Formats: sequence, structure tokens, C-alpha cells
Amino acid sequence: MPKNENAPKNPALKPVRGTHDILPADYRRHRMVVETARRVAAQYGYGEMSMPIFEFTKVFQRTLGDTSDIVSKEMYTFADRSGDSLTLRPEATAGVARAFLSNGLIQELPLKVFCQGPMFRYERPQKGRLRQFHQFGVEILGVPTPQADVETIALGVHILEELGVADKTVLEINSLGDSESRAAYREALVAYFTGHRDALSEDSRARLERNPLRILDSKDKGDRKLMAEAPNISEYLNDASRAFFDTVLDGLKTLNIDVSVNPRLVRGLDYYCHTAFEFTTEVLGAQGAVIAGGRYDGLVKQMGGPATPGVGWAAGIERLTMLLPQSPEPTRPIAVIPVGEEAQGPAMTIAQILRENGYVVDMGYSGNLAKRMKRADRMNACAAVILGGDELERNSATLRDLDSGEQSEIPLDDLTDRLSAFR
Ligand code: ATP
Ligand code: MG
Repeated sequence: MPKNENAPKNPALKPVRGTHDILPADYRRHRMVVETARRVAAQYGYGEMSMPIFEFTKVFQRTLGDTSDIVSKEMYTFADRSGDSLTLRPEATAGVARAFLSNGLIQELPLKVFCQGPMFRYERPQKGRLRQFHQFGVEILGVPTPQADVETIALGVHILEELGVADKTVLEINSLGDSESRAAYREALVAYFTGHRDALSEDSRARLERNPLRILDSKDKGDRKLMAEAPNISEYLNDASRAFFDTVLDGLKTLNIDVSVNPRLVRGLDYYCHTAFEFTTEVLGAQGAVIAGGRYDGLVKQMGGPATPGVGWAAGIERLTMLLPQSPEPTRPIAVIPVGEEAQGPAMTIAQILRENGYVVDMGYSGNLAKRMKRADRMNACAAVILGGDELERNSATLRDLDSGEQSEIPLDDLTDRLSAFR
């Protein structure tokens, strides 16, 4: 957004760092992303749900893991007035799993849902990285087979296509395997990174003890250098995990979805297994991931529920918005323009009748004819209904086509019909 010279100097009027207001033009883009995603997700049989924006801190702490970036340094956690520790949600999946258990939805498996809304993470704000941002996410609970992984990915591709941004993204995928494979890989990683312990970042040294897989998710330059020589998960997948991954890849091939296997791709959260994937773009600089997801069979159990497989993804709405090829324009209004005091009342009535007939009507509420015509122009109005004293006496108005400049006087009774040309 361009810096506004009229912006107040008073620091109390500045929004919190990393948060922003979404003004109407930007919000049209935002809504276009959300509404497109909604429409396509519904086509795949997903139902929309919504969870609270805050949860008990444990909901995230337990599931995301203490060593995740999110839990260790990004959560907005506070005690409420009764002393409960609450956290503004940093992501949606933990909340979906919590809601699944709270509402006893076990009988309804498989459950296919999507949700959207704001997320909160205390991060260093930059282009495409905010402290309050928005996600659109989909989840399938209760399907252990790779078909679910394929379906969620296909849904992601479909949404990107509908938005016209698919050609700006690539799909990368990896398998983290089942717990046996991950344990074997973990051992190999610990052995490798222990040999280079001194060269690791402080964060990654901590990860080495608690969750070495996370080192692969590190953005530290030194860590990334070490990763080049690190062992690959693919060498540690057992037969079942290999077969699972192959079925996912076959399914994507059947659907003509291009994908590249990236053996370094891991998800930063504890609960992932098997499939991990990301849709990334080169267009947004360092903030390249627009959709990220994977399989999280361990999550619901970790939360204290019955073992329930899950797979899903989350899209960053702001990042998708930045990829949109064009801005959706608002519907062009009809400007109702009273001339003189006595026309104000009738103008209100006429505007109301037109709105009730489904027209989009703008009224400027002040100024002379010239000023109101200027506003009509700024609003990109397609037509003006000008109500002058003389015309009103004849029970008519002047209708001006604002594109051609043509105008004619028409009886008020014919107005709604005559305006149909401008719909
Ligand atoms: P990154 O590697 O960019 O930090 P992440 O792995 O933390 O991403 P996820 O937790 O998987 O991201 O969230 C899914 C998607 O949400 C991301 O791919 C991105 O599009 C978006 N996202 C995540 N964090 C932010 C943020 N701080 N600001 C804007 N969008 C974000
Ligand atoms: Mg992050």
C-alpha cells in the first residue's frame, strides 16, 4: 500500500506493527480469493466451519510442539481476567481437531471441512509476512488412504487455477513416512548434525535434541549449508511408507498435476507424517509459500482423542492476493443527484426505490451539481439520475448515460424500467 501523506503523526493512531487495515479496494481482492476458494471447496464436498479466534494455550502448545517456531516464539499468549492462559490462534488445524473432539463428531467421519479467517503470529513483518494475516484452510479427518492426500492437493490446484495464478506456482512434495521411518531418519539426522554441532545455529542445536527434523525447516544460512550434505528421508522410508508416497504420486499423475519431489521439504510442526507439500512462487521474494499442508495422522490422538487420521492445507490469503492478475472492480453504481434543496427528499425516495429494485445506487449527500458529478465520475457510475426542480414539477428526471454523455428526460414512473439498460 502506498504511504499516505495524510497519515497521522500521533503514534497512538498507528496500527500495531504487522497488522493492517484492509480498505475496500484491497478487500475486493481478498474476498475474491476467499469466495473463489469457498466455491471450489464446496464443489469437492467440503463444508465451511468456523472456530473461535482464541483457544486455551494448551490446544496449540501440545499439538504444535514446544520446539516449533510457532510455539517457541510466535504465539500471542495472554492470561485473561480469570487467569486462564489463552492464545490467539496461529493456525487452524489444531482448532479444527479440538472442535472435532469437543463436538463429538466421531460418528461423522470422514469429515471434510474448510475454514478461513485471521491468524496471529509474532514474526518479523515484511512483504507477505504479517502478524495478523489470513488463511483459507481445508481438512479431511478420518481418511487414512492416500486418495485423501491427492484430493486435497487437487483442490488446491483447482483453486489456484480459478484464481488465474496456477502458472505462477509450483507444487513441491515430500514424504516424511510413518513413525517407524521417521524414527530411523531421525537417528541418521542426529548422527549427521551432531558431527557438525558447532556449525549449527543456536535454534538448531536445541532442535537437535528435541526434534532434529525441524533443522531442515530452518531459514538460517549456516544451517542451510549443512543441509546440502544431510541424509535424505527417501532412503529411510519403509515399504509401507514408500507405497503410500507412490500412490500419492500416481494419483497426482492421473489427474495431470505436475509435482516435483523435494527431499528437503518438511513441515515445521510436530504432527505431520507421510505427505508434506507446498505450492510456492518466485514472485513474492523470500515469502514463497502460498499453500502449505500435509498429513497429520497423529494430531487428534496427541490431543487426547481417538487415533484419527487427517490431511489438509492452509493458504495464505494475503500472499495469494498479491499474485492476482487483476483487481475485481465493484459494480458500477447509478448516481442519484438532487439539484437544490427541494430535490433532496425526492432523491432519497427515488434512490431507495431503485435499490429495492436491485440497482446499486450512490448518493453524494452534499455539494452542487458539478461536485456531485465529479463524485459520480470517481465512483465510476454508469448513469446519473439528475433531479432538478423543474423536472420534479413535471414528475420526471434527467437520465444521463455517463459513458456516452447522452441524456434525456424521462417520467419517474418509467425510471426503473429505463435503467435496466445499465444493469
Ligand atoms: P513460512 O515458511 O513462510 O513461515 P509457514 O511454514 O510458517 O510459512 P504455515 O504455518 O504452513 O506457514 O502456513 C500456511 C500458509 O500461511 C503459508 O504458506 C503462507 O502462505 C501463510 N502464512 C504463514 N505465515 C504467514 C504470515 N506471517 N504472514 C502472511 N502469511 C503467512
Ligand atoms: Mg512461519
